[in-house]
Amino acid sequence: PFDILVVGGGPAGASAVIYAARKGIRTGIVAEQFGGQVKDTLGIENFISIKYTEGLKLAANLEEHVKEYQVDVMKRQRGRRLTKKELVEIELETGAVVKSKAVILATGARWRSIGVPGETEFKNKGVAYCPHCDGPLFKGKRVAVIGGGNSGVEAAIDLAGIVEHVTVLEFMPDLKADVVLQQRLYSLPNVTVVKNVQTKEITGREKVDGLSYTDRSTGESYHLELQGVFILIGLIPNTDWLRDTIECNRFGEIIVDSHGATNVPGVFAAGDCTNTPYKQIIIAMGSGANAALGAFDYLIRN
Ligand code: FAD
Repeated sequence: PFDILVVGGGPAGASAVIYAARKGIRTGIVAEQFGGQVKDTLGIENFISIKYTEGLKLAANLEEHVKEYQVDVMKRQRGRRLTKKELVEIELETGAVVKSKAVILATGARWRSIGVPGETEFKNKGVAYCPHCDGPLFKGKRVAVIGGGNSGVEAAIDLAGIVEHVTVLEFMPDLKADVVLQQRLYSLPNVTVVKNVQTKEITGREKVDGLSYTDRSTGESYHLELQGVFILIGLIPNTDWLRDTIECNRFGEIIVDSHGATNVPGVFAAGDCTNTPYKQIIIAMGSGANAALGAFDYLIRN
């Protein structure tokens, strides 16, 4: 068996497996691919000490760095079941079972997409999901935020300080965000909120030039001219296969303590699949390192 087995090859998993391997223990990683969400990212400007990089380049760097170490890499493999016996057992989609004294889950998350025409075509060409990442690209421009929950309203407040104007579009008759956030939002001069509306299309030629929506009460259609659309309708953690065995919160995020430990002894988790409040590359990497050290601590005590 492995001493530490990592599941997931994004920033959290890569960081965890490197930290584990540096302890000179038997280390493995089940990685569908290296990079995770980073592979869908164009420019990255907030990975501190690297002024600018691109998703595919960072993904390749992650893999290269992991391969510097004695790590058993099980690429193009996915975990589909976790069982805790004496060891932790991960059953792969091929049916094979990999055993380890400790496991670090780093399966990440995916942004919920809205599925309207233009979303896929204009990804990274005006359609964005992360205000911390892409907000500055829209300095002085007009943007929309789709989604009036906490993440959408926080994004709108954040963006209002950078861009010329923000329109928030909420599908339901009311915003779902916390009242303090709503108050802050409504106090901003360059924000418009439209509720009970359905986004129909993100328009553009080379890049985004607008957004069409209908008012759900009147059925009337409208078109906004703008350069950016932030879609913030939820982040879905890749934890469906774990929910029977590992304690998750109501969003499906794995609950971890300050050592990255879950409720199951020997099972740790890191990155966007956990209940960490902020989902960023640098944070995922930090939490991967933290979970690996937590798992190592667990090994030397058991
Ligand atoms: P992920 O990156 O999601 O990686 C998890 C990996 O695990 C994936 O490869 C997944 O396929 C795999 N996996 C899932 N289930 C299983 C399974 N059952 N078995 C095996 N493997 C599995 N952050 C920044 O800091 N700066 C940015 O500029 C930035 N831009 C972004 C732009 C976009 C479009 C997106 C979507 C995100 C962006 N982020 C950015 C956020 C950042 O990418 C994430 O916070 C980070 O990748 C999380 O790392 P992770 O390792 O926890 O998860």
